[in-house]
Amino acid sequence: MAKKIIVLGGGESGVGAALLAKHKGYEVFLSEVGQLKAEQKTLLAHFGIPYEEGGHNLEKIYTADEVIKSPGIPNELPVVQGIVARGIPLLSEIEFAARFTRGKLLAITGSNGKTTTTLLLHHLLTHAGFDVGLGGNVGDSFARRLVEEGDHDYWVLELSSFQLEHCYDFHPYVAILTGLSPDHLDRYGGSYEAYAEAKMRIFRNQTAADYLIFNYESKDLRFAMAKHRIEAVRIPVAYTKKENLPFGAWATAAGLTMELPDLPPALIEWNHLKLSGKHNLTNALAALAAAMLVGASPEKLKEGLASFGGVPHRMELIAEIQGVRFINDSKATNVESVFFALEAFPASPHIIWIAGGVDKGNDYSMLDELVCSRVKHLICLGIDNAKLRAHYESKVKCSEARSMEEAISLAASIAQPGDVVLLSPACASFDLFKNYEDRGEQFRRCVQLLKPLYSKA
Ligand code: ADP
Repeated sequence: MAKKIIVLGGGESGVGAALLAKHKGYEVFLSEVGQLKAEQKTLLAHFGIPYEEGGHNLEKIYTADEVIKSPGIPNELPVVQGIVARGIPLLSEIEFAARFTRGKLLAITGSNGKTTTTLLLHHLLTHAGFDVGLGGNVGDSFARRLVEEGDHDYWVLELSSFQLEHCYDFHPYVAILTGLSPDHLDRYGGSYEAYAEAKMRIFRNQTAADYLIFNYESKDLRFAMAKHRIEAVRIPVAYTKKENLPFGAWATAAGLTMELPDLPPALIEWNHLKLSGKHNLTNALAALAAAMLVGASPEKLKEGLASFGGVPHRMELIAEIQGVRFINDSKATNVESVFFALEAFPASPHIIWIAGGVDKGNDYSMLDELVCSRVKHLICLGIDNAKLRAHYESKVKCSEARSMEEAISLAASIAQPGDVVLLSPACASFDLFKNYEDRGEQFRRCVQLLKPLYSKA
């Protein structure tokens, strides 16, 4: 008899998991507490997968041989507790999908930089001629790509802490940890340690034949890693060469330098790197090191790096209008990512900083020095800006805006040639926008509407 798989949650990863399970001959049922999108319903119906929405039929769920839980579903929910109490295996879509690939897995996690590093690594390997798939927390789920594309020799996967929490046998050949800083603590009962431990699961099945690339500049990450026995060969990436370490990828005066085990040293000159900001240096070093470790040549890496311009909503230059640069960093939904955004500009008060939204328990103090030296005006964009405003009111000029239009017209009225208008919110977007992409797109649209105004003037 076919094994019975129940999928909890009908978003991208849940529907992907259901499609893959069905494709592999399992008996599948999908249960969604809210409403499914029309597109998801069409897919499920097309593949003959039964589902329910608007609630969970517990009796049915508890008959599962295995439950695949979507990353957005908190562990505390009674339905999840009931599954655990009955000893039914609970896994993530990533764990499930990884059973059906013979390809080598290159997995990326960290608090910030996952998407940039994932897309860059995928781009580098594709450019170097590898048969490589892309999945996980970026675009389509891993499971769905496996169904639609079949297997690949390599898979580059972006993983969130929620996806890793329910991984058990998942075994990446190359794991990348881009850094660690507090985020999503609301989902971890306020425990930074619990969040960090979820991330550390990425290397738990690695052996001495595997590689763990990690951001040496992130002290919190090194601290969290030090609590574990690590079998994989460790490859640090850093802003400067670490003389005491046998291998690594680092910045030197000449460029990005790769000193990797069993490979001749390689240098990627600075002119190939199009990404800006210090944070992108460690992201780029990690992606380059991973690509070299699986056999990409330095020549191909140089070309690939030079043709990668960045990712939308991450320090994306939208326009320069009358000497004012408008930069969309809408994806900066936590304090650390804003730190790197502010740090990317010269130390003079030229930034008009648009921030705010749904505060995830932020402590803004790590930004204070940068804000005081670089921000000339803070525009608080959101429904409830009280916390952000209270923190900065005495330090820098502050204004409020209740819509992106308002924020941009205010910013345009303040900005002088040479200034930067930076949307880098440090907060989630759900108060005024559908998601961070919607927020970034509205920023883009409003800025583009400014252009004709100035060209007439
Ligand atoms: P993630 O997928 O982990 O959210 P992204 O690549 O989407 O990461 O970037 C999210 C935000 O964090 C952007 O504002 C980006 O500029 C910033 N960022 C990217 N890489 C890093 C890094 N290594 N450290 C800190 N911030 C980063």
